[in-house]
Amino acid sequence: MPLIISVPHGGNDDPASIPDRTCPGITSAIDIRTIEMANGIDSICKVDYGFQPYLVISYLKRTKLDQNRDLPEATCSNSTIAGIWNNYHLSIDTFITKINAKYPLALFIDLHGHGHTKERLELGYLLTGNELRNPANINPVSASVFNLLQLNPLLQVNQLLTGAHAFGTLMANNNFPAVPSQQDVAPLVTDLYFDGGYNTQRYCAAAYPKVFGWQIESNYTGVRNNQANRVNFAKAFLQSIMQFYTTNTSMDPATFGR
Ligand SMILES: [Zn+2]
Repeated sequence: MPLIISVPHGGNDDPASIPDRTCPGITSAIDIRTIEMANGIDSICKVDYGFQPYLVISYLKRTKLDQNRDLPEATCSNSTIAGIWNNYHLSIDTFITKINAKYPLALFIDLHGHGHTKERLELGYLLTGNELRNPANINPVSASVFNLLQLNPLLQVNQLLTGAHAFGTLMANNNFPAVPSQQDVAPLVTDLYFDGGYNTQRYCAAAYPKVFGWQIESNYTGVRNNQANRVNFAKAFLQSIMQFYTTNTSMDPATFGR
């Protein structure tokens, strides 16, 4: 199906042969259980819909490599692991090419976990909290869904952020609160909020005109913390994504995987 899920730093592999990253200013907290989330989405999609997304997963611990940073910060300039970093991106590139041979657009999701106080999904469209609080002034060119807007001129950027068929709205309808969404249009000034990182910037850009997407920063409790919640999340995610394709793109999930 025309979906790539990237899981850049949920891994636990901790080989002694790779030194820990020690460059200044880095974050090395693991997005725990995000690999299990992606695998859950994959296996439930196969059973419930008969097709599967493309998964790109880094199993290395974030203290060794961060697949959501540019090369110097990802590796702390350790050239011996540059090939691993490159292979991750080569995989994404390969899957984009495969998808675009069959479908007009690829949906790219970078999957993360946050530890912020508010238990909700934070959807990163490369728009700051301040931009989301002033929706009339949002410049669609800077949003990670701009390539979708280019192919579907009837859509407005705010429909994809907070409209009735925005991904966040559909997830909230399925009991997974999200910001932005119709129910929760923007984080407060005082809220911590992730608006999208390196991978989202790289693959939802003008250089990839047939890719759009967003970052999902998931809360832990009720989403990632046990198998039952991960199954519920996967089912809600898949239902929302299928509805998103049907409403906002020219792609029909009934034709996927054929
Ligand atoms: Zn993360």
